[in-house]
Amino acid sequence: MKREPRRTCLGCRRARPKQTLVRLVRGRDGVVVTDSRGVVGGRGAWVCPDDPCLARALSRARLTHAFRRPCEASAELAVVVRAVARRGVGAPPCEVSL
Ligand SMILES: [Zn+2]
Repeated sequence: MKREPRRTCLGCRRARPKQTLVRLVRGRDGVVVTDSRGVVGGRGAWVCPDDPCLARALSRARLTHAFRRPCEASAELAVVVRAVARRGVGAPPCEVSL
């Protein structure tokens, strides 16, 4: 059995393999975006690219709790998370325009 790194989804609170989740980071301006390159340091949050999880995870209260600072989702965040997820596991890092 190979051990995989797991992260907890902000929406459903289930621990899942890291590569099935999308990483969120909080920008300096308090707006939460996807960490599409996987290189942004600091505190991150993770979410499944599923509608129910996104609906729950991207609420301001949930994000503020996760990052321990006031923040809110960018307008297209749910769309971008799905776009990132569609690129698939193991895809090379690439730009996702916001
Ligand atoms: Zn989830």
